[in-house]
Order: sequence, then structure tokens, then C-alpha cells
Amino acid sequence: MSRPPTDGPSHAPGEVPGYEEHLVPGFRALKAYVCPTCTQPIAAGTGHVVAWPAGLTEERRHWHRHCWRLAVRRGRVTGARDVR
Ligand SMILES: [Zn+2]
Repeated sequence: MSRPPTDGPSHAPGEVPGYEEHLVPGFRALKAYVCPTCTQPIAAGTGHVVAWPAGLTEERRHWHRHCWRLAVRRGRVTGARDVR
């Protein structure tokens, strides 16, 4: 699947009601993050998903793409915020 290059992250519409979800391509992933579901690191340079409750950008979390998809499928996205 190819995407035209854009300035902003692309938006995959509406998998989780009330959530904003964006794909972060690897070249924009400048920092490492910890995935809230598997607690494994997402290395810098790895394409991943960033998502947050609509309007609450400070609540945003970075997810492995497969972990995000699994969480969406299991309805566990909203429960994954309490991660240290
Ligand atoms: Zn993960």
C-alpha cells in the first residue's frame, strides 16, 4: 500500500468512536515509545499508530500497528490509558 507523501500523518477514519488515530510513518518516528498493550518498545524509525481520546492530545499513546488493531478489535483501546 503506498501513500502520497504529506506533511501531516495520514488519518485512518473512525475505527474507535471518540478517538483520534493517526499513522506515524517510520521517518517521522524520531523517538522511541512504549506500546501500552504489549509494553514493548517501539523503536525510533518504526512506523506506528498514535491515538488519543478526541480533544485530549495529552492522553495520546503510541502503539505498534498490530497492537492497535488488536486493541481495537478487542475493544480495549479506552482501557489502555493507565500505563506507566
Ligand atoms: Zn505493542
